[in-house]
Amino acid sequence: MKTEHIPPDWAFEFHGHKCPFMPLGYRMGRLAMEKLGVEREKDHGFFVFPEIGVGHPQACLVDGIQAATGATYGKLLMEKTFYGKLAATFYHPKKGAVRLSLKPEFVDAFGKFQFFAYRKQGKEPSEIPAGAADEVINWVYEQLDEAIYKVELKPDFKFTPAKGSFNKTLCASCGEVVFERYVRTRDGKPVCIPCSGY
Ligand SMILES: [Zn+2]
Ligand SMILES: [Zn+2]
Repeated sequence: MKTEHIPPDWAFEFHGHKCPFMPLGYRMGRLAMEKLGVEREKDHGFFVFPEIGVGHPQACLVDGIQAATGATYGKLLMEKTFYGKLAATFYHPKKGAVRLSLKPEFVDAFGKFQFFAYRKQGKEPSEIPAGAADEVINWVYEQLDEAIYKVELKPDFKFTPAKGSFNKTLCASCGEVVFERYVRTRDGKPVCIPCSGY
């Protein structure tokens, strides 16, 4: 039996290549939304904190999470914690928080597919034969949610988003628009951070 949480084609297009992580992140996002009872975020009310870091594989999860939840970097709804872990916490101010992580047994079994042998040889996902990507992606689709994800409710999780402001000014030095929160002062004049010299 296949999971119902399969990314739409546009999500693969957005992501740029075929890999198993984007779909795993997509499913992670959908399961978190089900658990919390939230819809895909249209505006600015649902937050995700992926624990992915830099310089390790599987960061593609984050694109799948964004595609599923609508909680995107661009809308400032996503902040990475840089713990270097395959997990994310999903938070809605009215519904609470849930953390999903990939189970170690799953990560182990998953790592045995040919796709990862190619990756370790230094091949980029788009250079890997489609058959090898499809093989592991389809295998993941057939695994049960419980075999992949650990799910924990986080009743004590707290997050206060930065308060928005439309106020802006022009930098006295470069003349570009800068929003109030980021205005600095140099020689008594408002300047942007790059022009402020500190
Ligand atoms: Zn990818
Ligand atoms: Zn400036």
